[in-house]
Amino acid sequence: MTDTLYIDGQWRPSMSGEKREIRCPADGSLVGVVAEADRDDTEAAIAAARRAFDDGPWRATSATERGDLLLRVSAEIDSRRDEFVRAETDDTGKRPYESDIDMTDIANCFRYFGKLAAEEAGRIVDAGSADVDSRVVYEPIGVCGLITPWNYPLLQAAWKIAPALAAGNTFVLKPAELTPHTAILIMRVLHDLGVPPGVANLVLGAGATAGAPLSSHPDVDLVSFTGGLATGRIIAREAAATVKKVALELGGKNPNVVFADACDTDERLAASVDNALNAAFLHSGQVCSAGARLIIEEPAHDWFVTELVRRAEQIRLGLPYAEGTETGPLISAQHRDKVHAYVEQARADGAEILTGGAFATGDHGSGALDDGYFYPPTVIDRADATMACVHDEAFGPTVTVETFTDEDEAVTIANDTEYGLAGAVWSSDSARARRIASRLRHGTVWVNDFGPYLPQAEWGGFGHSGIGRELGPSGLDEYREAKHVYENLRPGVTGWFSERGSN
Ligand code: NAD
Repeated sequence: MTDTLYIDGQWRPSMSGEKREIRCPADGSLVGVVAEADRDDTEAAIAAARRAFDDGPWRATSATERGDLLLRVSAEIDSRRDEFVRAETDDTGKRPYESDIDMTDIANCFRYFGKLAAEEAGRIVDAGSADVDSRVVYEPIGVCGLITPWNYPLLQAAWKIAPALAAGNTFVLKPAELTPHTAILIMRVLHDLGVPPGVANLVLGAGATAGAPLSSHPDVDLVSFTGGLATGRIIAREAAATVKKVALELGGKNPNVVFADACDTDERLAASVDNALNAAFLHSGQVCSAGARLIIEEPAHDWFVTELVRRAEQIRLGLPYAEGTETGPLISAQHRDKVHAYVEQARADGAEILTGGAFATGDHGSGALDDGYFYPPTVIDRADATMACVHDEAFGPTVTVETFTDEDEAVTIANDTEYGLAGAVWSSDSARARRIASRLRHGTVWVNDFGPYLPQAEWGGFGHSGIGRELGPSGLDEYREAKHVYENLRPGVTGWFSERGSN
């Protein structure tokens, strides 16, 4: 079945007839064959979205109706959950357990924006006169191009689709070419729920071909992109010519700052090491907010790192459906090569690889790894600010270790990054933890934790981690225009220019 492009309310093959095989990165098994779109397909989708926005019935829907639709999408994801979980698992190689958590988060995202849609319809502003009615109202931006990555395929798409629809826009979604299946499923849900033709469109294919028109085409009013910094720069540049609105959710190189007093008892050590492990190795480190930089107070270095390595070596790599698997493969052979190159560079730069650092093969008790792209949890000690492994986003299961001796140095190291997506501080001294948290230049800061996010709280980055915010009220604002309507209830002569009569 390769009628997998969804354009103007219809399932279609690509115009060129091109297809792409999707294979599970854990074992190379064939997951499906999908249409490979080209520019022409994307332009057709943009045209459909434009018509639906300009002339279709969608513009007449109320915010409450659109909110109700999102609540029904949320319910459908819950009721079709097994199908969604399997599709996400097969495309990414992550465990069904993790895909299931993703689906809960996705359903919650649709529910959050479903409720928010009608809540913030506009506001009255005081013009300083009883004769004036002055209001700010919100309107949709128009046609939105939504471009998403492969690490959390449907979650990243949901953070865009939900607010885009809530605000009354139409959209064209271009998910990552390696992980298209949950995007197809969410379009089926929207279709089944009666979303009018052209409101929601899906094109599948490579970024440079199927994705590119979404940033350059004059009929697209906003492009919202999640992905790497290099691609983000291209998108921003392409979008500039038509001055479209641009939202960018890019990478991160996220510090996890641990003070000695966060690991000076067995209980605290267990908690802080366990969280450092999750921070670095969850989803094999393919997480934009991964805690890939451990910044530890010097006196605690040896005992903390010893325990971190011991725990890292126990993480069980395996096939997604195998008993006992704790984490899965990297997304592709090319990506595994990239991660390995960072580790090799770190070694060449003088850092010490305490564990990991070579392709994972064989059978670790949860299935043979040889046909997948597995890489073991890798701890890189004695790293410093001069090394690429400290500054570049490897986006794999690697954590670098740096040390500090006082608060100022901890903050300096933690902020020494071009990115600014997320960071954490661990200390049993709550005043100190708060002091540090307030000085971290990152969009999300965790105190004595790592990883949680909430649909009602903004997500996004300082610095080169991006432009704009997803989730929270700001995540809805990204998709709407504020319009000030100033109504004079008692119009009259202003007297600004004097009237001199006709002769
Ligand atoms: P990527 O930049 O290679 O690709 C992302 C998407 O952009 C894909 O759909 C791709 O096909 C498309 N694309 C590529 N070139 C394009 C072009 N010229 N025009 C239009 N579209 C194009 O990123 P990736 O490897 O898929 O994802 C990993 C990156 O995503 C990491 O850097 C990670 O940090 C980042 N990420 C950020 C967040 C966040 O919330 N900030 C979340 C998840 C992932």
